[in-house]
Formats: sequence, C-alpha cells, structure tokens
Amino acid sequence: MTQNKNSKPHLKHFHDVEIPDDDILTQCMHCGLCLPVCPTYTLTGMERSSPRGRIRLIKEVAAGHLEISKTFIEEMYFCLDCQACVTVCPAGVKYGQLVEAARSQIFESGKERGLWLKKFFFRSVFTSFGRLKLLARFVRFYQKIIEPLLHKSGIYKLLPRRIRSMQELAPRISARFFDDYIPERSMPQDQVRYRVGMLTGCLMNIMFADINADTVEVLQVNDCEVITPKSQVCCGSLAAHNGDFEIAKTLARQNIDIFFNLKLDAIVINSAGCSAFMKEYGQLLANDIEYSEKAAKISEITLDVSEFLLKHKFKKPSHPFARRVTYHDACHLIHTQGISQQPRQLLELIPGVVLIELDEASWCCGSAGIYNLTRYEDSMRILDRKIENIKKTGADIVVTGNPGCMGQLSYGLRRANLAIQVLHPITLLNQAYKNSQSQ
Ligand code: SF4
Ligand code: SF4
Repeated sequence: MTQNKNSKPHLKHFHDVEIPDDDILTQCMHCGLCLPVCPTYTLTGMERSSPRGRIRLIKEVAAGHLEISKTFIEEMYFCLDCQACVTVCPAGVKYGQLVEAARSQIFESGKERGLWLKKFFFRSVFTSFGRLKLLARFVRFYQKIIEPLLHKSGIYKLLPRRIRSMQELAPRISARFFDDYIPERSMPQDQVRYRVGMLTGCLMNIMFADINADTVEVLQVNDCEVITPKSQVCCGSLAAHNGDFEIAKTLARQNIDIFFNLKLDAIVINSAGCSAFMKEYGQLLANDIEYSEKAAKISEITLDVSEFLLKHKFKKPSHPFARRVTYHDACHLIHTQGISQQPRQLLELIPGVVLIELDEASWCCGSAGIYNLTRYEDSMRILDRKIENIKKTGADIVVTGNPGCMGQLSYGLRRANLAIQVLHPITLLNQAYKNSQSQ
C-alpha cells in the first residue's frame, strides 16, 4: 500500500505518504452490502457516513475533485475503523487501508483540530515507556487521592460533564506496572515446548497489568518459556490509526530489532489491537529495504493468545469452573484478524463454563482506540446498543479480548447499573486453572 514518493500525479490532493494502490482505490462496486453492518451509517442513515460513501469521498479527494475539507475530516474520524464492512464486502475492498491512508493525508495536511495534542501524545509520550509510566503515575495519584477528595467535597459534580465522563471511562491505573515486576524470562514448571515472546502493550502494561500476569501464567502452564523484553515499545497501532505513520513505522522498527533475534516460535499478544497491527508490520514496511523481510517474519509469527492456545491444544482445567459467560468479539480480532472461533472454543473447553451467544456479538462497542474520548456522544449511542444485548443474555460475565473493549464495556455496565463482570478470556482460564489447583 505504501509509497515514499507520489508517483501518482493523478492523485492530486494526496501528499507523498501512504498512498493506496489504484486497485484498492477502485475496487468498490457500490453494491451496498456493507451498509447494514456499519454502525455509523446506522446512526445517521446518510450515505456519506457509510463505507461506500466514505470510499467515494476518499477517491474524490485523491483525484483532486474535493479538498481535504472539514466534512471530509469529520467523516474520516466519525468512522470507527471497526472494519465490519471489510468482513461482509464481496469485492474484498481493503477499507481499513483506505481510511487509514485518508487519515494520514489529513495528518500531513495539518488541517485537523487539536493536531498538536495528538502529536504530543504519539510522538512524545507513546514513544517511550518511561514517559508513559511517568504520566500514568500522575493519573494513578489523581485517581487514588484527588478524585475521592473531589467527590467528598462535592466539587466533582461541578466539573464539566465531558471531563467527568472522560474520568469515568478511563480504566484504573494498575497498582504496579507489569514490566516493573515481570522478569525478562519466565520458565514453565515442566518441560519447555515453546519459546514465545510477549508484547506487553503500552496500555496493558499500565492499566491491565493483571491480565498480562495471567497471560504469562497461562503460557507457563502450557509449557512455554516466555520472553518479555524490557526494551520493547508500543506496537504503533494507536499512532497509525490516527494518521501518524511516521511514528508507527519508527516503533515497528524498534520492536522488530528487539524481537527478531530472539529465536521465537511465536510472539503472543493478548490485546487485539496490538496483534492486528503487528500482523501488519510486513505490509507497513514492505518498501523498506532494510526491514521488509524481518517485518514479514515478525508478522508471520505473531498470534493472538487465544489463537496460540488453540493451535497448540492448551491444557484443559481439571475441575469444573461453573460460570455463565457471554462473548463480545473485539473488532480487531474478528474483522481485522478473522478470529472468532478460537476464543469461543477456549471458553467452551473450560469445564463448567456455559457460553451464551450474544446478539450482534461482532457489532463494535464504540471504544475504537480513542474514539470514546474524542466522540463521546456517538460512542455512547453505540455502546448502549451493546449493553442492551449483553443484558438480554442473563450472563454473569462478559468476556472480550481487547483492553479498549474491556474498559468501554465496564463503563457501559456501570452506567446501566448492571452487576456483570468484564473479563479477558485469559483471566477466566487462569482462574479456572487456579481453581483446579486448589481442589
Ligand atoms: S470501519 Fe466500521 S464505522 Fe467505518 S465504514 Fe466500515 S463499518 Fe462503518
Ligand atoms: S460491500 Fe464492498 S463493494 Fe459493496 S459497497 Fe461496500 S465496500 Fe463497496
């Protein structure tokens, strides 16, 4: 998809970066089959908010018939990049590549509101675990000390609603960051059958450290030697999904340098957004003479943790672990990676677990990276639909394999006063293992 030089003068309004190939730009046959699965089209009923409409807009801008206007920017960021349209498209349109290319053009044009803030976070904070953890320490102090004081004094209620919503949406910062206590090498109790690398993830590391710890323990039970390099960095997906491909590529190269020489059987990832993006490293760096081969190899060995466990016939817990669960498909698992059966099979293989199918399980929850922060109202309308469906299942636990979805669903369930727990599949499996050991 990517080219460094604009060798396509007919794409007049596109800058010299991330220009989609002509066949990707022209693949859509306007059949409209993607319209009913698009959450934003369902919200507005407007063609321009549909996948087909957006593809048309991108083509018109690329050809120089339309400017990168406010409306264009609005539509490209109203899209959740959930890729539900990709799953149903009979023509195989690579919509994700198109919308991300369009966002990179917007980023390059400098016309986006609040661009300086994005640049600050993607280029100064997410490029360094040290700086990210420093920021996380401030947020943790705020969540533990300041926020309760604001509640107690009544000041909290006086804060603007948007600020309160953002605080309530943000997952709690972990008491200890995962990479502060996990050794670089964790050995299984029995023999080593696989040597796997683990991407800690930037947000998983600071907000979901317990899930990372569960992942290492589950992998150890399944005879894995787990390598967790301290020098690893963010996978780059957040930057790429928001148009900053320069930083995304820099981070990708850093991770490739770190993981490539470790002689790994697999790189195992428990965050759908990160595994989806590392599987795209090959494509992202296809034109990079130094990195293209290594990037393709890294993509080849990257697996979502449920994919890895099913592929290698994970050990079933020996004792029943009676739980009523439902499963929400994270967009970056089902639509980007085509993974829907493995997490369900994993749950069904835990003795005692009853899996209740969720209506519209593959419909986006509205989290979508930072969408729930930047487009709070739209995100909540999408979330309400998901919560209604979860409520209908009667399940006690909703399971999903992406931190963004976990935070969003937890918030939605709290808002609806529903006592339903949100768990990562690996946490549920680890709980079942521990339950078996204690019997
Ligand atoms: S990615 Fe999702 S929100 Fe965007 S056009 Fe496709 S279905 Fe609609
Ligand atoms: S389903 Fe595919 S080919 Fe049909 S309108 Fe949507 S994007 Fe175009």
